[in-house]
Amino acid sequence: MSHVMNTYARLPVAFVRGEGVWLWDESGKKYLDALAGIAVNTLGYAHPRLVRALNERIASGIIHTSNLFAIPAQEAAADRIAEITGLDEVFFCNSGCEANEAAIKIARYYGHKRGVERPEIIVFEKAFHGRTLATLSATGSRKVQAGFEPLVSGFVRVPLNDLDAVRAVAEHNKNVVAVMIEPIQGEGGINVARMEYLRGLKEVCDRHEWLFISDEVQCGVGRTGQWFVYQHAGISPDVVPLAKGLGGGVAVGACVAGNRAKGVFSPGKHGSTFGGNPLACTAVVTTIDTMKDERLLENAAKVGRAIRDGITQGLAGERGFVEVRGLGMMLGVELDRPCGDIVGMALDAGLVLNVTSENVIRLVPPLVMSVAEAGQLVDILVRVVKSFLARPALAAAKAG
Ligand SMILES: *Cc1c(COP(=O)(O)O)cnc(C)c1O
Repeated sequence: MSHVMNTYARLPVAFVRGEGVWLWDESGKKYLDALAGIAVNTLGYAHPRLVRALNERIASGIIHTSNLFAIPAQEAAADRIAEITGLDEVFFCNSGCEANEAAIKIARYYGHKRGVERPEIIVFEKAFHGRTLATLSATGSRKVQAGFEPLVSGFVRVPLNDLDAVRAVAEHNKNVVAVMIEPIQGEGGINVARMEYLRGLKEVCDRHEWLFISDEVQCGVGRTGQWFVYQHAGISPDVVPLAKGLGGGVAVGACVAGNRAKGVFSPGKHGSTFGGNPLACTAVVTTIDTMKDERLLENAAKVGRAIRDGITQGLAGERGFVEVRGLGMMLGVELDRPCGDIVGMALDAGLVLNVTSENVIRLVPPLVMSVAEAGQLVDILVRVVKSFLARPALAAAKAG
């Protein structure tokens, strides 16, 4: 019996080696990776620059000191993040939920400073913000919340892409101090906020002096072809929680603040023992610098388009295929039926991906993927989806 707590339904595959966008399991079988450890392994596997930087960091003997002291690597990482976000201040933590916890605390503190005693935050249906109690409460999925009540209060939920719903809340609820939005919902099925909606939402926030929190934990850090999704909309948010792709595979989270959220916190208001340690911050600096030098944003846009076009053409007219959506290298392929079985079928065919929201195949490959490799991804995926859709409904129902 495994002593690992039973929180994940794991597939019986263990990857033991990786290079670029390729993975190998214990038996030596090779896989093309379209998942990147869930949008984490930005630079793929064994990127020489990241390997060298991390090795040097470890060999220096200093992988952790404490936030009680100055940490040059943390200063360098904060400089990089300030530059690419266009914001001012970075709080470092270790994961996405912690980055969102920091954002929620900033919003509440901002509210209290403005005399709002019970500050509330507008959140969205189908959003995912994490598994800690506050972020779970902000998440728009009853499945994830069930059994963990009482939830944290102070969240008001509205549908995505409906500005009138937000305006209606603004009219009668004077406790609102912030809006927290995932501009592309990852876990919720790759649902993209319309750019004019994001701009309209920003206007409502400005009018009421609410904080605009853009949860870019999954969609941020270059994946969509811009550093951040809000840049596609041409707006500047107040708070941006980051994590997944930020450290190229090393665990790190960051809550970035600027505009109205600048200077909200002072010493003692928030903290993290491991947050911003030299190992994680070396990973951040190296990941961002490498992305710039290798022009990975352009690559994400180009390769993402190739994948999207390839799948759209390959599955055109196929009964059961609904659409491909997303931005850059954050794509969802929606089918008209639950398709969890595709994960195992793809693995058999040498492709790593996952399924979210029951019927959406999620593709979030490493950003170093080439157009040729994207072609291989499309070939395998189209073949697997066709054979999945060709299965008799009865067999599909039994297996499902
Ligand atoms: C994954 C994710 C989180 C939670 O990140 P963890 O590192 O798992 O805590 C929060 N928000 C979004 C948008 C995510 O995709």
